[in-house]
Amino acid sequence: MKTLTIIAAILLLFPTGGMGGDKVVPQIIAHRGYWKAAEGAKNSITALEKAGEFQEKYDIYGSEFDVNMTADSQLVVCHGPKAGTISAVQKATFDEVRQQKLENGEAVPTLDEYLEAAKDLPIQLILEVKTHSSIQIEKVVVAKVVEAVKAHGLEKKIDFISFSINICDEIRRLLPEATIFYLNGDLSPKQIVEHNLSGISYSFSVLDSNARWISQAQKLGLKVNVWTVNDPKKMTKMVTYDVNYITTDDPELCHTQIDTYNTLKKQKMQ
Ligand code: MG
Repeated sequence: MKTLTIIAAILLLFPTGGMGGDKVVPQIIAHRGYWKAAEGAKNSITALEKAGEFQEKYDIYGSEFDVNMTADSQLVVCHGPKAGTISAVQKATFDEVRQQKLENGEAVPTLDEYLEAAKDLPIQLILEVKTHSSIQIEKVVVAKVVEAVKAHGLEKKIDFISFSINICDEIRRLLPEATIFYLNGDLSPKQIVEHNLSGISYSFSVLDSNARWISQAQKLGLKVNVWTVNDPKKMTKMVTYDVNYITTDDPELCHTQIDTYNTLKKQKMQ
């Protein structure tokens, strides 16, 4: 009930949507998979599959995951820099990384294993290419990622994200049609257009303090994602800001917040 009151108060503060009156319904992205579901662990194949399983129930658009390259040039799905007892995934060998277990007992997946598991799921994949130690290495990582994505025929099922503008540029060079979002929060929508990217994916604090970027980006034809929002009030605030996507560790809560907001809005308009 308290949550409803807060949302009702926000509705009074923001009576109409910013983009021509029609409210954009943010779509939900499960951060590192739906790992909060039973037997999930961040970046595990189970968490990916759970995002697919709960797609309809919570209206999940996509599932995010992180890709790193080991010292012997193998791509693994792992946030890094740490993994289990390893302090730097990018400096460890594949065998060393593979010996690490996720919280649910799964081994750290290879990118190939992950893409294979994702193939038939009813969700989009949000593939984050992690920054690496040099532009040269980042080019190698991107080439390998693109090769794997093509080998699995998943070019259309994947949205790419990265904190490295070099990585974003290189993905664009190799995949002219790809959807690519920049994560680092330091470039304006106009600069993102100059890099020929598809959108901005910035933190809550960046978008909260640069809220004008949201409508500026959308007027330029870009999409806007906000990460990683787990607080219900912040979720609702971003709904009122008309973002296109909300990345969250809690798809269930995010779905409730969006649904409640839209229901109250509908009632208010009747
Ligand atoms: Mg990530």
